[in-house]
Amino acid sequence: MKIADVHAPEAPIKSTSNPGVDLAWLAERVEYGLYQDCVHCGLCTASCPTYVMTGDENDSPRGRIYLMRAVVDGRAQASEKVRNHLGLCLDCRACESACPSGVQYGKLIEPFKVALELSAKGNEKPPILLRLMLKHLFPYANRMKLALIPARIGKATGLLNLLESTGLIHLLPKTLQRMQAMLPTKMPLFPPKDLASKLSPVGPRRAKVALFTGCVTEAMTPETNQATARVLQHNGCEVDVVHGQVCCGAVSYHSGDEMSAKSFMRQNLKAFDPSKYDAIIMNAAGCGAMLKDYAHLMHHDPEAEQAKAFTAKVKDISEFLVTLGPVKPKNRIDIQATYHDACHLCHGQQIRNQPRQLLGMIDGLELKPLEETEICCGAAGTYNLTQPEMSHKLGQRKAEFIESTGATMVATGNIGCQLQIQKHLHDRGNHSDVVHPVQLLDQAYGPIPNRNS
Ligand code: SF4
Ligand code: SF4
Repeated sequence: MKIADVHAPEAPIKSTSNPGVDLAWLAERVEYGLYQDCVHCGLCTASCPTYVMTGDENDSPRGRIYLMRAVVDGRAQASEKVRNHLGLCLDCRACESACPSGVQYGKLIEPFKVALELSAKGNEKPPILLRLMLKHLFPYANRMKLALIPARIGKATGLLNLLESTGLIHLLPKTLQRMQAMLPTKMPLFPPKDLASKLSPVGPRRAKVALFTGCVTEAMTPETNQATARVLQHNGCEVDVVHGQVCCGAVSYHSGDEMSAKSFMRQNLKAFDPSKYDAIIMNAAGCGAMLKDYAHLMHHDPEAEQAKAFTAKVKDISEFLVTLGPVKPKNRIDIQATYHDACHLCHGQQIRNQPRQLLGMIDGLELKPLEETEICCGAAGTYNLTQPEMSHKLGQRKAEFIESTGATMVATGNIGCQLQIQKHLHDRGNHSDVVHPVQLLDQAYGPIPNRNS
């Protein structure tokens, strides 16, 4: 449990050695004072999933801040060992919630990981197939929809189950096997029709909102976006499904492709005019946290003011509804459910009570408390593809805690968590549904009366 043999000096030390990352690039993006905010008290370590699992201080927030600062100070190189400890970080930001000194860990690790990716060589890089998919597939909802056609056919015909049960699935490349394992268990052959670009409120208009549909959610579980739109309509919202919107940029940014991420961000700033809306609504925690970060990520760019105005309007669906004053749903749902806090909702956006408050409005729904609810399930964007071992351990741990609640339904506000939890419950022979809270609300509200869209 030895922290890398470095000390924390008061000011950066100049070094002539090769740091293994572009320090000038990093210095433009990370203020040195952010490293100094950490006083090494260690109060964050117990909340860090990777430290809990490995017990290695280098896999704790404190240890990682030491390592990053040591590289920046020229006291350590971004060696393979350092890369491994930083690469194992989930960027779940549980350490931020636990830190009494207000350390903004996300603002350190995110650019640092990008810098590591940019300087990665040979086998420091992810496999080529994964890199191609991260760049050319995942951020594009339409390409993903096309790529998922064989999966939908395979699910609907039982072919995928057959490939699994006969072991033939192992003939696929590892990356594809892992992706296949993460497919939603229920995928209808035909996805629902795309949402209309304008949807009218039920009853008098209380707000006008834009819906951010995202890429992975729209391709894999478009039902969540449809439910979000209906729930907003039931709450008196006029909903615009804005044309020209693209991926939030998180997939590219977190895989080290800052240029593509910025291009997506600029396209979104062009597509959404925040002055026309009371809010820009997001239902995936990871994307919501990214959209709320546009102002920070673009603060040196010509679009800085635009990004600030955009960020100010971004709201998670639960945050928005609770502020608006939610309409109580009429239908009962008699079920015992539990709620898993998605990291980028509870730690990244400090949204904890709102989803519970909304679920609490549903008559018949009993919400069972979940132990370690704020500990990451191991999904963490593409972490399950890049760090499959740790992701698996965390997924199994989460599934065990969920089972101990006795609930037969799990709600969580992030597509990645939904798929990860479902997979790990499924692996244990547990076929409980894992849904977004808006899907339960949608069911409790019922269909839109006299649909005009
Ligand atoms: S990140 Fe915060 S809680 Fe963790 S060691 Fe540093 S100051 Fe303490
Ligand atoms: S972001 Fe999560 S995994 Fe990374 S150091 Fe913080 S608590 Fe640990």
